Amino acid sequence: MSGDLDRTEIGVVHEDGSRLVDAEPVTDDATIEGALRPRTLDAFIGQQRVKDQLGLVLEAASARGRAADHVLLAGPPGLGKTTLSMIIAGELGMPLRVTSGPALQHAGDLAAVLSSLIPGEVLFLDEIHRMSRAAEEMLYLAMEDFRVDIIVGKGPGATAIPLELPPFTLVGATTRAGLLPGPLRDRFGFTAHMDFYETADLRAILARSAGLLDVALTDDAAAEIAGRSRGTPRVANRLLRRVRDFAQVRAEGDVDLTIARDALALYEVDEIGLDRLDRAVLDALLRRFGGGPVGLSTLAVAVGEESETVETVCEPFLVRAGLLARTPRGRVATPAAWSHLRLRPPPGSTPPLPFGEAVEAELDGADPA
Ligand code: ADP
Repeated sequence: MSGDLDRTEIGVVHEDGSRLVDAEPVTDDATIEGALRPRTLDAFIGQQRVKDQLGLVLEAASARGRAADHVLLAGPPGLGKTTLSMIIAGELGMPLRVTSGPALQHAGDLAAVLSSLIPGEVLFLDEIHRMSRAAEEMLYLAMEDFRVDIIVGKGPGATAIPLELPPFTLVGATTRAGLLPGPLRDRFGFTAHMDFYETADLRAILARSAGLLDVALTDDAAAEIAGRSRGTPRVANRLLRRVRDFAQVRAEGDVDLTIARDALALYEVDEIGLDRLDRAVLDALLRRFGGGPVGLSTLAVAVGEESETVETVCEPFLVRAGLLARTPRGRVATPAAWSHLRLRPPPGSTPPLPFGEAVEAELDGADPA
């Protein structure tokens, strides 16, 4: 991280370097998220298609009296994958064991977890795409035949001792389904692709969370916060907590539309969920480079950030919001970016319609920088 910007100033980043609109969990999320997680499929808001499909899988498993098929939950952070894994275990009436890809660096790590499961237990494997190759190969057999081969010894004298496992249900979660090898993906009986949430669903999530946190939240305030939450329940719940803090100090705790707007203005989260860094990137792109095209590294220098920060932290949402496009010639602002920052494109500037190009660039695998 570089630059003159004091990034721990309110609204941009927390003291640990994370941002208010970050979809990944940050410092104070862990405890509070536990309290806000819905515990049944019925209480899980939105993602109707996933809920319907998953409901069937679970019902069928219960009717057969056998462990449910393995389930893969694919989608960006903060959309409810961990929550769903807990719901799956709850609906099946089974305990949940939690582990993650990075924790399984050796096949032995996985063997230890698998061999200690009880029959029917649900194993949640977060970030499954980050598991080691050796663990992954062991998992293939475990998923298919409920068996692992423990290799004893080395070289030509090595022997494989088969170890029977109790039937279990694996719930894998990944933010990068594309990185999973085909054989692993194929071993899941059901894959749920989770999408960003509609504003109406986020409103309902906020209303529910406000009830649990004992915050008086009006409908229009919930809609306002929902619209700034980037389609992500984790961000919505976090913004609600910050707005609640503001309301406690400034307005006896009640959150109405004015309080929500004032609080979010103070935290510098704008009407569509951009924070100060996102806006700084857009602002530099528009004012200094006439809307582009401009290379990633030049843009990063202009906002005093590392290229990687701009690319991984800001750009994904700017692209998703239709404000910025990656083209073979560099980053380009879309017409929506000009109107969002209430600026007028200079006459004779590059025609700001890069969508076709951007798509082609991605298909060709061209380096957009
Ligand atoms: P992920 O594992 O995908 O990163 P989590 O399951 O940890 O996401 O969810 C993040 C937060 O958002 C949790 O506090 C959870 O309660 C909340 N949340 C996610 N999805 C929903 C939903 N559909 N309804 C209510 N709350 C949700």
